Amino acid sequence: MNIEYVPNTCPYCGCGCGMNIISVNGEIEGVEPWKRHPMNEGKLCPKGNFAYQFVSRDDRLKTPLIKENGEFREASWDEALDLIASKLKEYREEDPDLLAFLASARCTNEENYSLQKFARAVIGTQNIDHCARLCHGPSVAGLAQTFGSGAMTNSIIDIEEASCIFIIGSNTAEQHPLIWRRVLRAKSKGAKLIVADPRITPTAKQADIYLPFKPGTDIPLLNAMMNVIIEEGLEDKDFIEKRTKGFEELKEVVKKYKPEDVEELTLTPADKIREAARVYAEADSAAILFAMGITQHITGTDNVISTANLAMLTGNIGKPGAGVNPLRGQNNVQGACDMGALPAFYPGYQKVIDEEATEKMTCAWGCSDLKCTPGLTVVEMMNAAEKGELKAMYIMGENPMVSDPDIQHVKESLESLEFLVVQDIFMTETAELADVVLPAAAWAEKDGTYTSTERRVQYIRKAVEAPGDAREDWDIICDLAKRMGAEGFDFNSPAEIFEEIREVTPQYAGMNPERLSKPEGLHWPCPDESHPGTPILHTEQFATPDGLGIFFPIEHKDPAEVPDEEYPFILTTGRVLFHYHTGSMTRRSETLDRELPTGFVEINDEDASELGIRSGDMVKVRTRRGEIEITARVTPDIMKGVLFIPFHFAECAANMLTSSSELDPAAKMPELKVSAASIEK
Ligand code: SF4
Repeated sequence: MNIEYVPNTCPYCGCGCGMNIISVNGEIEGVEPWKRHPMNEGKLCPKGNFAYQFVSRDDRLKTPLIKENGEFREASWDEALDLIASKLKEYREEDPDLLAFLASARCTNEENYSLQKFARAVIGTQNIDHCARLCHGPSVAGLAQTFGSGAMTNSIIDIEEASCIFIIGSNTAEQHPLIWRRVLRAKSKGAKLIVADPRITPTAKQADIYLPFKPGTDIPLLNAMMNVIIEEGLEDKDFIEKRTKGFEELKEVVKKYKPEDVEELTLTPADKIREAARVYAEADSAAILFAMGITQHITGTDNVISTANLAMLTGNIGKPGAGVNPLRGQNNVQGACDMGALPAFYPGYQKVIDEEATEKMTCAWGCSDLKCTPGLTVVEMMNAAEKGELKAMYIMGENPMVSDPDIQHVKESLESLEFLVVQDIFMTETAELADVVLPAAAWAEKDGTYTSTERRVQYIRKAVEAPGDAREDWDIICDLAKRMGAEGFDFNSPAEIFEEIREVTPQYAGMNPERLSKPEGLHWPCPDESHPGTPILHTEQFATPDGLGIFFPIEHKDPAEVPDEEYPFILTTGRVLFHYHTGSMTRRSETLDRELPTGFVEINDEDASELGIRSGDMVKVRTRRGEIEITARVTPDIMKGVLFIPFHFAECAANMLTSSSELDPAAKMPELKVSAASIEK
């Protein structure tokens, strides 16, 4: 019997926990936590513990499929790739912008780099995006504006150093369990925990100060905290003076947001806002953690800027135990952004609108005709497809038929395309609509790197062979590029691709294989081989042109939809402990599926009693986009007037109900966290 333990990184959330994959005679049999890994120190959450179960499922895609007369038939790689190459060439000749590409927060850095390079250098379009648009696009946009760099400012381990932790819009205990462990350790050392959330989540239950607030009122809540801090002279005057600009403008705006004046809007008791503001401002070091509760709004970028304003106001940037920390949901969503799988940025956040950056990339890739205008974002791609302005899409490892807002609209858009290619490990809801489906290798079947939410770049290592004819995503893309006559895709391994990534991505330049092979990996920026990596950003100066952090005063705006007589509830969405994103992997894990086999809607017990709804009843939840039938879960742990549905479940898809009609102007984020809804038995 041949038993191997292959060091790896968890394929699920952005924590980046280390694990060993256990293979027996070439078959994946289990995982065990990596005891020497600095992030998780020998611990895994339930998702991580059962991460191996989906890999060996019988329903993995094993051969390319071509749709004919509405039915898939098996095809050879030559036939499938030649067909795709000839179709893409046709559209490219007509207009490269008739094509669009979705990369994947679940694929490696090397695979995301390859796909964005393919879109830009082979096709000549900037239409490349991925699901970060629908999670942390506003984090990138908001923190880039204020700090000059759109990522978590501090490391996960560093959270333990905080004397106050303010969590807003994140159910950290369920979504990022190994970050939560650091929060609890900080708490056991005396840190105060403040949690703002419309639900009394497992995270909120541990709070020293819990701030209930109505979805969509993040800005007045944060402004009111700043109002108290300035009014009581608790701001860090020295930090403001030496390290920032724009304070006077901020002061003018936040003075209008007294806690007593915003109470009616936010539904947060004014005395609680005052208490939280004092505790946060008086702490020696205070860390802000947030997730999609902050970002998934049409004011997502403004919400993120407000968290940055609060941190700068109190000097909580650039030191241990502090910072503004967007917690990324998927294992490589940070890396996919770093690699330029975004329509406005090349690798390393070099701007597409910057002519010098475009020239640099054009030279590096040996291509021409790259436009200096950003391409389409995910939602814009769907709108363009519906209007016939986009004719073909290539989707690698994403499932917009469950993850994107207003699924009916997504379906109509994808069906409007003349040609759709989906490359994935399972026949997802999106793959079912494709003209060609390409079978890809899963995480345990390939080498490469992931970048976790704390900017830590780490290796993943192949432990078992992919099933049937499935191939690694980078290998498929490079083969396709060569079939289209492109040069610059003669890579023989992810390691060769990573060498090119280092050349064009300044933050990754100092990461060589020897340094990355250590369990701790490296935090970017790591500009040269002698640089130790950067667990804490902005210690001396910000990444803005003059090195100063910028306060932007932000005013409250109503969400795109507010409750009315017909739709009297606010519907908000999120995740649960046992599932991940669209469920394509966790719902195929027998253990995780058994824990929670389908979705539910949470409703406040008083609301439920008025409507005659009891836990376990089937109810209809309706918005202006459509309706779903789903099981009710009655609880006092959600605010009156608010409904919550987890978005993992296609058969009662929360995103049938969400809207994509209005977008955050900077990050193009739809209003995923607030929809006006009705509920009936
Ligand atoms: Fe995996 Fe995240 Fe759980 Fe760690 S916390 S084991 S990375 S899902």
